[in-house]
Amino acid sequence: MPDTLFSSLPITSAQVKNLSSLGYKNMTPVQAQSLPHVLKGKDILAQAKTGSGKTAAFGIGLLDKINPRFFGTQALVLCPTRELADQVGKEIRKLARSVPNIKLVLLCGGKPFGPQVGSLEHGAHIVVGTPGRIQDHLKKRTLKLDQLKTLVLDEADRMLDMGFSDVMTDIIKRTPASRQTLLFSATYPDEVKKMCRSIQRDPVTVTVESDH
Ligand code: ADP
Ligand code: MG
Repeated sequence: MPDTLFSSLPITSAQVKNLSSLGYKNMTPVQAQSLPHVLKGKDILAQAKTGSGKTAAFGIGLLDKINPRFFGTQALVLCPTRELADQVGKEIRKLARSVPNIKLVLLCGGKPFGPQVGSLEHGAHIVVGTPGRIQDHLKKRTLKLDQLKTLVLDEADRMLDMGFSDVMTDIIKRTPASRQTLLFSATYPDEVKKMCRSIQRDPVTVTVESDH
């Protein structure tokens, strides 16, 4: 039985304290199976149902790699919908309380473009958003991903169902090949397998059965 305490992970004691203040002491199964690999910089292909704690599984990992003194975008999380991006943004902001001066910007469709450009002006360590709007910002060069360290595809199956495959591929093309890629999905259809093969390097596969 692996240790499931957050304090067993190679993360800062400030983060362990922050997690405990959020009521997080033990890792959920998807966190326990993926975080040790995520923190080592490995690519992850994780399948686990809704409510299993996937956000912290990638959020704690991406925060660990961010240098707050450098204002380039170091982590990008792609989500299928604005509602999901909002939730992920809120959760990562809580996890980021342990890291001073981290800036997270939400970039979703259905919102005015101008204020988003303003919020990107002085840089954003973390960008969370929906594929279409992220691609718009990349095309207009209001967002650059050449310093990206961590790319997260959250609910990859849903994004592919929604027809975002080409947009996602175009976004990923604009990120460094050296990035870490974390792919999270509730299901594991052929489209997800195909996407994984084309964008991930030797990923660690994590599957959490739905009775957990
Ligand atoms: P998923 O993305 O898999 O649907 P979420 O990341 O949204 O799941 O997490 C589901 C809920 O579980 C959230 O309310 C979150 O705050 C809570 N949660 C996540 N990890 C833990 C943990 N280790 N201990 C306690 N609660 C947790
Ligand atoms: Mg989720």
